[in-house]
Amino acid sequence: MTPNKEDYLKMIFEIGGDTALISNKQIVAGLNVSAASVSEMVTKLVEQDYVTHTPYQGIKLTATGLKAAALLVRNHRLWEVFLVNSLGYPVDAIHQEAEMLEHATTPDMADRLARMLGNPLYCPHGGVIPDEDGHYLPQSRVRLASLKVGDKGHIERVVDEAAVIDYIFALGVHVGEHFTVVATNAEKITLMLARSGEQVDIDLPRADHIFVQL
Ligand SMILES: [Zn+2]
Repeated sequence: MTPNKEDYLKMIFEIGGDTALISNKQIVAGLNVSAASVSEMVTKLVEQDYVTHTPYQGIKLTATGLKAAALLVRNHRLWEVFLVNSLGYPVDAIHQEAEMLEHATTPDMADRLARMLGNPLYCPHGGVIPDEDGHYLPQSRVRLASLKVGDKGHIERVVDEAAVIDYIFALGVHVGEHFTVVATNAEKITLMLARSGEQVDIDLPRADHIFVQL
């Protein structure tokens, strides 16, 4: 399925385009699309006043884009909580379902869902859930890919993108997991997991979409 405008807005929000400039390359990696598709969509988003694009510097959400993205993220993450808490889905099986449901969600439906779920603040992947006005708690800006040997921390959130979520679950790494960085190179970062003492390699493009707290 080709990602649509809404998927781009969500991805830009998730990888930090709410407060900082992000690159085309980061969107390419997040959505698994070509650089040409990203350029084309960014041009459209600029025309519609959802993002600003400063050549050679990056892309950032405008106030309009931020509100739209936050509400899309809200819909997606509320459905994720519903699927896990109310329907008993395993955490690694909810992304695609939430992806379908979010596009059919009206603001009233999202508000009712939030109330029924007790106004949850985080999705099962550790992402913040914005309120009905698009406000949300601060989220980590520290990428796992940026860490150095000896850094210790825990995984705060994984970008809501199937490729990243499936990858990390297949490795047996979870949101909240504490780790120490034991090696890095141009391709991967190696973590020792505090819980099991096991070492896992995470490739850098994926590690760039995993946010941590030190
Ligand atoms: Zn999520």
